[in-house]
Amino acid sequence: MSNDWYSDFVNSGVGKTIAGQVGLPPVPRLRRYEPGQPLLSGAALLGTATADGRVAKVVRSLLSDVGVEVHEDPQAPIGGGSSTSKVAAGIVDATGLSSPADLAAIQGFLTPVMRRVGPSGRILVIGDVPAQATSPAVRAARRSLEGLVRSAAKEARYGATVNLIHVADGAENDLESTLRFFLSSRSAFVDGQRLEVGTVPGFSGSSQGVDWDKPLAGRTAVVTGAARGIGATVAKTLRRDGATVICVDVPAAGDALARTANDVGGSALQLDITADHAPSTLLEHAQRHGGLDVVVHNAGITRDKLLANQDRDRWNSVIDVNLNAQLAINDALLASEVFHRGGRIVTVSSMAGIAGNRGQTAYGASKAGVIGMVDATAPLLVEKDATINAVAPGFIETAMTAAMPVGTREAGRRLSSMTQGGLPVDVAETIAWFAQGASYAVNGQVLRVDGQNYLGA
Ligand code: NAD
Repeated sequence: MSNDWYSDFVNSGVGKTIAGQVGLPPVPRLRRYEPGQPLLSGAALLGTATADGRVAKVVRSLLSDVGVEVHEDPQAPIGGGSSTSKVAAGIVDATGLSSPADLAAIQGFLTPVMRRVGPSGRILVIGDVPAQATSPAVRAARRSLEGLVRSAAKEARYGATVNLIHVADGAENDLESTLRFFLSSRSAFVDGQRLEVGTVPGFSGSSQGVDWDKPLAGRTAVVTGAARGIGATVAKTLRRDGATVICVDVPAAGDALARTANDVGGSALQLDITADHAPSTLLEHAQRHGGLDVVVHNAGITRDKLLANQDRDRWNSVIDVNLNAQLAINDALLASEVFHRGGRIVTVSSMAGIAGNRGQTAYGASKAGVIGMVDATAPLLVEKDATINAVAPGFIETAMTAAMPVGTREAGRRLSSMTQGGLPVDVAETIAWFAQGASYAVNGQVLRVDGQNYLGA
């Protein structure tokens, strides 16, 4: 039993019958990642929109490497079944569009795919970066994909997701970690989103020889706010993927912090990240572990008040913890050899920083500020072959959301394409993917992990 009574009810034997009869919205059980799980649980359909597509070859080669059966005809009978039997994924190479007329080929491929994709299936559209087109017709066609994907994601059922990857010119061979993330069940709660690969020029790296079961092997990571909630799950997920983890939290959370550090076989550092000495203390501690490869800025606070009732101390404490502390630590990381070449910074923003939230002007300001920080820091990190990216969680089942009034909580859960809240592990999986060395071509991105919550963009 979860604490989501509605989901438990509509998934129970009698509840399913009643829900079907009176038309209650279903709540799909999402397939989530477990070590050893295959990338896809069945066959894939792979389409191309134009003869100029530049990524289908890369996708086909990845799928054949991992033993997935691939068909180009979206009506192909699969495994002795019919032309309507279920598939695990539909992927369309939508690069090379020259005008909106080319979109018809994508519709022709995706219409049968939408009917065939199975529970927790994956639909991926891969297109060119709109901003890299100067012709109005080309740019219009590229941008159209966003509306198509966001709308299709609202139609997909049974926990299937629909997402869009924009691939910069020349980055087609730098897609592997991104394809693996979006196709696998690590991205269970990422739906209706768009992400760019290779847009900040100058990236370098390789995914040759990566152990995809332990993609963080040999890397040392810091996670702030690791005593509980999302941070504790991030620490466990990074450990599962092979990292050595340094867990940071305030001294008042010392016991819980020690438990997380014990669970992950890592070290605990009691530190208030807003202290003047926090950046230097963090770097000194990391130096004793041989330096740092990954920094996850997860610690965050809310001090919610309507703006009309806001006071300066509350305002400042939110901006200090959620934004200023990260800026100060990043400055120190950029200036220090302790933060290794090829390092990864991952920060936690929020839907409140994108769409805004009543009672959360300080929090929303801090979380939007985090996005500005990512935008400006991404190009600065290129010379270190490092990256910075953000996750923007929506409604995640934590102690914080369990304490919400019932109406707010139910709206947060149901007003999304997944009709449920996400789990801390959904945020953690996204962070762990950004943290991989193999994600070298993903820089300056903000990815919502919110089951396509209907609030905001
Ligand atoms: P949480 O309150 O359960 O955990 C936050 C942790 O940060 C706590 O252990 C706390 O002690 C620590 N922390 C606070 N101030 C600190 C400081 N000055 N120095 C060091 N550690 C400090 O919160 P959570 O729900 O797990 O959220 C984690 C992150 O995710 C936050 O940045 C939050 O804003 C963001 N987020 C959460 C949700 C959600 O639905 N829970 C949604 C969007 C964004």
